[in-house]
Amino acid sequence: MKKLALTLGLAGILYGNLNAQNSRQDSLNNKIDSLKALMSAINSNCVYLENPAEKFLPEYYSEKVYSENLCINTNEKKYYAAKKNEEEGIKDIHKINNEKNAYEEAWIYLPEKEEWYEIGINSDAISVQPFYFRIKNILEENKDISKIVFYHNHPGNEDIDFPSISDIHQSMKYNKILPDYKITNKIIAKQDVIEYSLNSAGKEKFAEKNILTWMYTSSEEREKLYEDLTIKCAKIN
Ligand SMILES: [Zn+2]
Repeated sequence: MKKLALTLGLAGILYGNLNAQNSRQDSLNNKIDSLKALMSAINSNCVYLENPAEKFLPEYYSEKVYSENLCINTNEKKYYAAKKNEEEGIKDIHKINNEKNAYEEAWIYLPEKEEWYEIGINSDAISVQPFYFRIKNILEENKDISKIVFYHNHPGNEDIDFPSISDIHQSMKYNKILPDYKITNKIIAKQDVIEYSLNSAGKEKFAEKNILTWMYTSSEEREKLYEDLTIKCAKIN
């Protein structure tokens, strides 16, 4: 009798454990399912995860706010849009560059609509990251356009400030993910608007190495790449 009670008791404990284990497994499965759903949402929404650091993106949704002037925005929950022509937008960015402790920021300008949208996240004094999900949404809302100008500012003190390796990488990425548009890339430096693009030899050269290798490449290698960079420089009045 004692033995039976013991066996039953043991079975009860085992059954209980099994139940607990099952529900743990269930909750794990649920988590895996929601992760899978999230990954497919991310993929279908054109957010690229080539760089593991980009997994730590802010929430996908941000609210569009119309603004009189272009400005630096570090609140990733919203983004600014402004209706003004290219020249006026350049003047705004030039003004930002001359402010004390200015941050970098990135914008997309739609020349056919004369509209600016702020697309930068993780802004600081020396870098800014374009948010692809936002770019995709903006283009989704403006299906009738064919030209895009990507702008970002270099608030540093240099007179002429060349595009960084990551700027070149970004321009290559835009061409890859937005093949249907005529894309121009421009930097607003302290005194100049710098339009840049790699010629076809440069594009081939750049594609030979991955971005991390390029980041840490020697200055000689970098100089060689810059020979294939077409730069158009215009003074800001
Ligand atoms: Zn830059």
